[in-house]
Amino acid sequence: MLTPINADTHPDLKTWLPISPQSDFSIHNIPFGIFSVGNSSPRVGTRIGDHIIDLSVLAEEGFFDDLPLSDMSVFYENILNFFIEQGKTATNAVRNRIIEIFTQTDYKEKVTALEGQSKGMYESTSVRMHLPLRIGDYTDFYSSIEHATNVGAMFRPDNPLLPNWKHLPVGYHGRASSIVVSGTPIYRPLGQTNPQDAEMPLFGASKRVDFELELAFVVGKNTHLGQRINTQDAEEYIFGFTLFNDWSARDIQRWEYVPLGPFLSKNFGSVISPWIVTLEAITPFRTEAPPHQVEVLPYLKAQANKNFDISLEVILQAKEGEENIITKTNFKHMYWSIHQQLAHHTINGCNINIGDLYASGTISGKENNAYGSLLELTWGGKNPIQLNNGQQRTFIEDYDTIIIRGFASKNNIRVGFGEARSQLLPVIE
Ligand code: CA
Repeated sequence: MLTPINADTHPDLKTWLPISPQSDFSIHNIPFGIFSVGNSSPRVGTRIGDHIIDLSVLAEEGFFDDLPLSDMSVFYENILNFFIEQGKTATNAVRNRIIEIFTQTDYKEKVTALEGQSKGMYESTSVRMHLPLRIGDYTDFYSSIEHATNVGAMFRPDNPLLPNWKHLPVGYHGRASSIVVSGTPIYRPLGQTNPQDAEMPLFGASKRVDFELELAFVVGKNTHLGQRINTQDAEEYIFGFTLFNDWSARDIQRWEYVPLGPFLSKNFGSVISPWIVTLEAITPFRTEAPPHQVEVLPYLKAQANKNFDISLEVILQAKEGEENIITKTNFKHMYWSIHQQLAHHTINGCNINIGDLYASGTISGKENNAYGSLLELTWGGKNPIQLNNGQQRTFIEDYDTIIIRGFASKNNIRVGFGEARSQLLPVIE
């Protein structure tokens, strides 16, 4: 079995491409995405520093000829599903080969010649990124104990966590059609609300639009109905990760969520970062999960080091304003790991498909400047946050832009996600 190249196996790798040491897209990353240039059709690419590399050109030029791929046309597709379907043996071989190409000087001349013909490589500012997947199904978990406790405390101060929370990773089935790629604006939703003193529900634009800072994993292998995935095997079914902003309307949510959970308050738009960072690039950043406070059932038991140390931040940018970092936290705080989420999701025999997206749920840290939503940061709108331009926010205003960024780092090796960015636009009249 091929060993994936990453920050642990080859810490000393250096690319011959000129890139910033601060780039999220180091030679140890090699994420996959879908891009287009001008009027060309979208196809599969990767990114090193600010260089976008066209994998359809590398395939055409024979760079992947000796690799275990059954179909080279996957690089010409406008979604990654077909590439992922080739399996980890193939996708890891492609990722390793890309790293070899851009670290070994033997390859440099051939690649530079292609670039001379304006083929194969582009500046990141000259390409357009597309939604990288056909997302069949989307599931959202609720796996941060800090987030669940904070939200619970606002509604049930004496009993914030419901009795099931420490026994299973709570989740719900979301909506895939409204998941969009970074850069796509989201419209303020209309809906029903029922403010505390109102006799009848009201209809209008949501006044409490919020973000949710999340990370999502992409399914890399299908299962059939009835099949279960255990925590030890879960990683075979995970292709990679994206940043995820689960836009939410808190006033609509509060009225509609009983008894079946959120519905229209959550499905008007969710935004992902365009580059899928592979599990293989992230594995060097494994870390301990917080200890479970009650013993879980055997099917949810997981080995040590099942969390990932990924720094995350959210930026709010008012219209034409500067960036304000409004929260900083880390994926390592998650109480339930991705392995447990997948084991739980399939314990009843529910099948999963390549391209399905599983979001973590809002990621909050312990401190009140490490919360993953405005609902928590402003404590239900009671404590406004101050922006650099003198304005305050309780919830998101029209034309505000929300940006999520995230990266893992150790021994001066950085593997990052870029960003998931979206602007809130007014209700369409
Ligand atoms: Ca969510």
